[in-house]
Amino acid sequence: MEAPFLARENVLHGCNRGGRHSGMRAEAISIPANDRIPRSAGIRSPWVCRLDPRLALALPLCLLTVLVGCMSPEPAIGDLPEPPIYTLERRPAPPPPPPTPRPAPARTARRSASIRGATIIVDPGHGGRDPGARGLSALPEKTVNLKIATRVAALLSSRGASVTMTRTSDRFVELDDRAALAESKRVALFVSVHADANNSRSISGATIYVGRGASSASLSAAQHIQSAFRAAGIACRGIRDAGFRVLIGHSRPAVLVECGYLTNRQEAQLLNTVSYQVKIANAIADGIAGHFGG
Ligand SMILES: [Zn+2]
Repeated sequence: MEAPFLARENVLHGCNRGGRHSGMRAEAISIPANDRIPRSAGIRSPWVCRLDPRLALALPLCLLTVLVGCMSPEPAIGDLPEPPIYTLERRPAPPPPPPTPRPAPARTARRSASIRGATIIVDPGHGGRDPGARGLSALPEKTVNLKIATRVAALLSSRGASVTMTRTSDRFVELDDRAALAESKRVALFVSVHADANNSRSISGATIYVGRGASSASLSAAQHIQSAFRAAGIACRGIRDAGFRVLIGHSRPAVLVECGYLTNRQEAQLLNTVSYQVKIANAIADGIAGHFGG
């Protein structure tokens, strides 16, 4: 690339050491238009530094600026603008994902009048070809569910309720058939009995579910069962809502009780014992009786 401040034109050169022009005589040499200097000219360099005409005007202006700057009073340290301060800040963490299933909304629970003569369905979860969860349990979930649910049904019957079970043996029943039974009988309460499972073996405790948008009667039953669990010293994770078919597949009040985790070693052992099955069943029945006013 061509340097802007170097002009190519005729110049005067002095002595060129070792060249043909060894005297002190100055000589005018013409540089060819194609920028190449013939070796026969005996000139070391055809370039000379010249001031660009544009700088001829800029230089005095620069000198004037420097002169004015020197005459201006020195700014005090306090007059100097503060340098900007930058700090690194951690990006805000993304919001945590919503918990699933969601806790049941706080709504007013309405208690039923009396358990005597109330039509109640007790639903042992799974059965037949559907064993449910197994986890660390010796018994499959379907068997644990049936043992607890049978006890609950007997206790409610003894209190005067009209009780129907969706199954009384190890047989498969479709979820839709269970929900249809609740609708056809116009039941005062549908109670489904299950045992839970989770990938984490540390999770334990019973959980009580109601359907999303549950009625006040469903919430009342859930709250009374929760209170009975706590009174009996049974660990309870609380009331949550979910879209289980046996809860939302019909229009009747309904709760689903997960009696504990078969994937938790201690709870699985407890749920395999008759004494703990009776304890859980008694608490469920007490809660339902409380919901119906005793
Ligand atoms: Zn289940």
